[in-house]
Amino acid sequence: MTPVPSDIEISRAQTPKPVDQLAEEIGLLPEELEAYGRSKAKVRLSLLDRLHKQPDGKYVLVAGITPTPLGEGKSTVTIGLVQALSAHLKLNSFACLRQPSQGPTFGVKGGAAGGGYAQVIPMEEFNLHLTGDIHAITAANNLVAAAIDARMLHEATQSDKALFNRLVPSVNGVRRFSPIQISRLCRLGINKIDPASLTPQEVSTFVRLDLDPSKITWQRVVDTNDRFLRKITVGQTGFDIAVASEIMAILALADSLVDMKNRLARMVVGTSRSGQPVTAEDLGVSGALAVLMKDAIKPTLMQTLEGTPVFVHAGPFANIAHGNSSVLADKLALKLVGCDGFVVTEAGFGADIGMEKFFNIKCRASGLRPNVVVLVATVRALKMHGGGPNVSAGAPLPKEYIDENLSLVAGGCRSNLRKQIQIAQLFGVPVVVALNVFKTDTQAEIDLVCEIAKECGASNAVPCHHWSQGGRGSLELAQAVNEAASRPSHFKFLYNIEMPIVEKIRTIAQQVYGADDIELSPEAKAKIDYYNQQGYGSLPICMAKTHLSLSHMPDKKGVPTGFVLPIRDVRASIGAGFIFPLVGTMSTMPGLPTRPCFYDIDLDPVTEEITGLF
Ligand code: ADP
Repeated sequence: MTPVPSDIEISRAQTPKPVDQLAEEIGLLPEELEAYGRSKAKVRLSLLDRLHKQPDGKYVLVAGITPTPLGEGKSTVTIGLVQALSAHLKLNSFACLRQPSQGPTFGVKGGAAGGGYAQVIPMEEFNLHLTGDIHAITAANNLVAAAIDARMLHEATQSDKALFNRLVPSVNGVRRFSPIQISRLCRLGINKIDPASLTPQEVSTFVRLDLDPSKITWQRVVDTNDRFLRKITVGQTGFDIAVASEIMAILALADSLVDMKNRLARMVVGTSRSGQPVTAEDLGVSGALAVLMKDAIKPTLMQTLEGTPVFVHAGPFANIAHGNSSVLADKLALKLVGCDGFVVTEAGFGADIGMEKFFNIKCRASGLRPNVVVLVATVRALKMHGGGPNVSAGAPLPKEYIDENLSLVAGGCRSNLRKQIQIAQLFGVPVVVALNVFKTDTQAEIDLVCEIAKECGASNAVPCHHWSQGGRGSLELAQAVNEAASRPSHFKFLYNIEMPIVEKIRTIAQQVYGADDIELSPEAKAKIDYYNQQGYGSLPICMAKTHLSLSHMPDKKGVPTGFVLPIRDVRASIGAGFIFPLVGTMSTMPGLPTRPCFYDIDLDPVTEEITGLF
């Protein structure tokens, strides 16, 4: 339709097919489905065992150039592409998307169900709550925080003996260790399972985690951009947003329930006064965490506007977390589509962060190797990188973005687009540039982007009209991706995992961001020394860096040069399995703008219709 109606109007005008019908169409057995209402269902992980002999389909990653604060349409391109592949080219396809956080939904960017005629439906359900996974993560994360606090209080106020009596209660007159406690005894090198045989020294070692209050690294989380919670002076603690939490990363990286349980147990929450790491298992809380997360680990099945399947699972941000949907959703989808089918998965923000972490963290964890990278660009973001004025959410676009301006477009292509193509090429995977066309783009601008993208090394570059036309508007992209996927991909990691932590950070900073060097704060240096001592040196790196620039300075567009990347602090997510450097002033709790999206969101109490989501 012209003009294209609002996202929520389009979503509501289409009735989703019942989820059990969708499940049957894609080859699921009724017992593999757990319905949540009529249009969404969790998929049981037993599916992976049933299909383990089935060859995988082709694996496509959607990444992007450095975006404006409005987003350049990666989710929309992902949906348009699977709609084109499935409904128009008749190739099985699956989209794997992250579950949106309430932060952006109520903050600046809005939801993440795609947009126009390329959406996941029902978009209200996709954007809010879904099947409750983020709430489960918040509950699990904050249970750990409460467990730390309680344990410190009890250790401070009770003798070894009293602690022991409470921690190891007697059942029918016999004192017994729980399995989690036996595991702790083994790690402490105390090979006794009879509580009565412990020496007073062993009792003390067992009952006292002796956490150093100044070295607790665990933060509470909430899934709202609540700036106030960044620092709470009385408790000397702060909140992170739930989607940046280690438990979210674990959900996204685990490849089975056993793996998730082990990762939850390994999470380090702080350090004892003697300098030893203290884990969730030491706190005795890891089993309870697995219980809280047992449903969250199952991906949620939904559909696009054209009735093709989508997995929605996990939602780490790409700037302050690793930015990719779950390994499990991708693995299940790759089996379901069969060897000629396609799984299209999305990495958040620009290729410098979401894609780099997809390759170096997610592909390392999953063992999966992508066949093609689709790099999303828009004329508006290219104009910004070519020297156009800043674009901000809520403000009208300056006229440079409405009128044709070939020199700004060319400037953006020869700077940011070229660099992002080169970054994808560092990993040896063919790149197809998808120009997400907006109604203000002129034919000359569209042709120019496609021409320069190919000059810069893209194996193909095509315009996409899925937002205004649905799947048929992305047919050219689907054909280009199908063609690129038939070529060999020579995938390689950017760095050897055994390199020292500092060298891995420097490699990303120089080769991906274009920095001259890195500068570590004294705190960052001390933390890296500690992680090396503890044997955590061989983990991949998850940089927390702004998504608005290749550098750490959000206002530096194009390809910034001549800068040294400041590493303010370094954290370690041992359960998730990465080292987490904080670049510049990057905060793990975003804030709301003056006029957040929630101003426009409302509920009609009679019809129960939601308005204002996009
Ligand atoms: P990303 O995934 O890159 O952050 P999204 O796909 O979520 O971006 O798109 C961001 C916003 O831009 C959404 O509200 C979407 O509806 C809108 N949008 C995307 N593509 C177009 C387009 N071609 N024309 C108009 N609006 C678009």
